[in-house]
Amino acid sequence: MARKRLLILGGSTEAFALAERLADWPEFSVITSFAGRTRKLRPVAGAHRVGGFGGVSGLVAYLKDQNIDVLIDATHPFAHKMSANALAAAKAAAIPHLMILRPPWQAEPGDDWREVASMAEAAAAIPQGADPTFLAVGRTELPAFAGRRDLSFLARVIDPPETDPGIARLKLVFARGPFDLAQELALFREHGVACVVTKNSGGDAARAKLLAARQLGLPVILVKRPPMPPAETVPDVASALAWLKTQIGGEVGSHV
Ligand code: NAP
Repeated sequence: MARKRLLILGGSTEAFALAERLADWPEFSVITSFAGRTRKLRPVAGAHRVGGFGGVSGLVAYLKDQNIDVLIDATHPFAHKMSANALAAAKAAAIPHLMILRPPWQAEPGDDWREVASMAEAAAAIPQGADPTFLAVGRTELPAFAGRRDLSFLARVIDPPETDPGIARLKLVFARGPFDLAQELALFREHGVACVVTKNSGGDAARAKLLAARQLGLPVILVKRPPMPPAETVPDVASALAWLKTQIGGEVGSHV
């Protein structure tokens, strides 16, 4: 049987895990696509490409040029533009499409969460005197907090912001996850963090900050997810692998 060409839209931990698992599947030739937001790419199994496609039409052209047979959208739960483009392009190119979307985090006893719909609402919801507030929102979202001149902020980012976010009192911590509970507790204690702001990304890799906040009794401002397009969706890599098996008629190679 001819190998199927699979494009994974990356940016999530699931995308890396999926590419890794498929390295042993002879039925698929895999290429992972990255937007190119981080300066240093994390290594990925198999082939990869970097950079935007140029909207839906650009992605359709890429799918055709590269003879892509199957598209898996494994972008981050907040990358809603790419997800909408992916569904539209797969429809236009008439190829199977699946989205991996991990479930959002749910509050548990002991959590003090305030859910908001946007970064602007998150900035407004930080309690007065919560100094410093820890921001785990990505470097491009930092300007939303510039108006809270009553507070100082500690922001964890992978790369420095391209432009000054305009926050008067800002300390940056450079690190790439995952982080465990001990690391998060140590960071929060070292800086005396009084409040945590994060997107509701879900998943295990970024959960420890929420556990640390619970343990230290800190309020958490949680930004809700944007709406996602109505695509066929699975919650994890194992389900995506099961779906991929159906794409090859249940025939299996070395992956059984
Ligand atoms: P977005 O708003 O949904 O996408 C903006 C544009 O970036 C897309 O229209 C596309 O450009 C390009 N793009 C996004 N993902 C791409 C991919 N995997 N391969 C090639 N081009 C891609 O996305 P975003 O929120 O800016 O996130 C950018 C990337 O960072 C995503 O891949 C996402 O998985 C990852 N990420 C995002 C977050 C987050 O909080 N948003 C967190 C962690 C990782 P064209 O229209 O030119 O094709």
